[in-house]
Amino acid sequence: MGEAYVMEMTETGGPDVLVRTPRDPRAPGPGDILVKQTAIGLNYIDTYHRAGLYPVSLPFIPGAEGAGIVEAIGDDVDDFAVGDRVCYMGNGTYASDYTGPATGAFKLPQGLGEEEAVAVLLKGLTAWMLLFEVRRAAPGDTALIWAPVGGVGSVLVPWASALGVEVIAVTSSADKAERAKALGAQHVILSSDDVAAQVRALTGGAGVDVSYDSVGKSSARASLDSLKPRGWWVTYGNASGPVEPLAPTELVIRGSLNMTRPSLFSFLDTDAARRAAASALFGALRSGTIKPYIGQRFVLDQVGDAHRAIEGGKTIGSTVLIP
Ligand code: NDP
Repeated sequence: MGEAYVMEMTETGGPDVLVRTPRDPRAPGPGDILVKQTAIGLNYIDTYHRAGLYPVSLPFIPGAEGAGIVEAIGDDVDDFAVGDRVCYMGNGTYASDYTGPATGAFKLPQGLGEEEAVAVLLKGLTAWMLLFEVRRAAPGDTALIWAPVGGVGSVLVPWASALGVEVIAVTSSADKAERAKALGAQHVILSSDDVAAQVRALTGGAGVDVSYDSVGKSSARASLDSLKPRGWWVTYGNASGPVEPLAPTELVIRGSLNMTRPSLFSFLDTDAARRAAASALFGALRSGTIKPYIGQRFVLDQVGDAHRAIEGGKTIGSTVLIP
């Protein structure tokens, strides 16, 4: 057994601010579980925290999800026992061990490994939020999906297409375009092309009902220009940087568009919502509608390299960190 440690930052900046630091885990308080982590999911939001785009108080341990084996439970925890295999969303999961509220945790269904769980938990729930909560996807809808083979995209594309949505994917390379098709996209556009013009050509001039846009700054205009009147611009990420401020007239001149900027955490604010979301996600996994897609693994104390890879657009599917 190695020493307990965390990957901590004392300043914001590049990937090198993440430093391995010995740290014993906090003993579980009332309502908490203590987990020996075996897998941690990398999420793009970790890079926003590290770089300072989303403010954090320092020192800070990034990491928003993990999985492992319950080692101890605090008072008032009835749903978990020592030895359970669990996955959870929480704060500060870049660590060998995690202590946090049992309310954010789920027992792993039989057959779902810990690495697979962190490949689909936060990213899969984001896809659930986009398809069922922000705007209910319906058969016959047309959707533009950006970053279709990334962590979120590799769940969103097959799930949307299983719901009968016609998916037009936008990605950066011919290799990723092939992967997007294999995931269920009917059409793929390269982001270096004139995306809105291509969308009009593919839809007989009509445009799409919705653009699921995680790219942000560099994709905003193309998303808006690709929509049908009364279509939905769902801008849910900033991979290329935050979207510039936008005047409401930009929505009206294109035909009463809807714009929303959702955050998963506002959709998981009650126990009932968390249970419903997890049940939809685990159901979609069980039926084979979606599958964990692990593109690469990194040892946790090399997480700076993982940040460089995801920020460079070099990752495929989900990235798993092994403590
Ligand atoms: P991804 O695995 O999707 O990685 C980001 C992808 O974005 C890249 O692979 C690349 O795909 C694309 N991209 C386009 N432009 C750039 C650029 N300039 N720099 C880097 N990447 C670029 O990451 P995640 O699955 O972890 O997250 C996807 C997005 O979803 C992020 O923006 C994240 O913030 C957002 N998100 C939002 C949530 C919410 O609640 N609102 C929750 C979870 C995630 P390609 O090569 O195909 O263009």
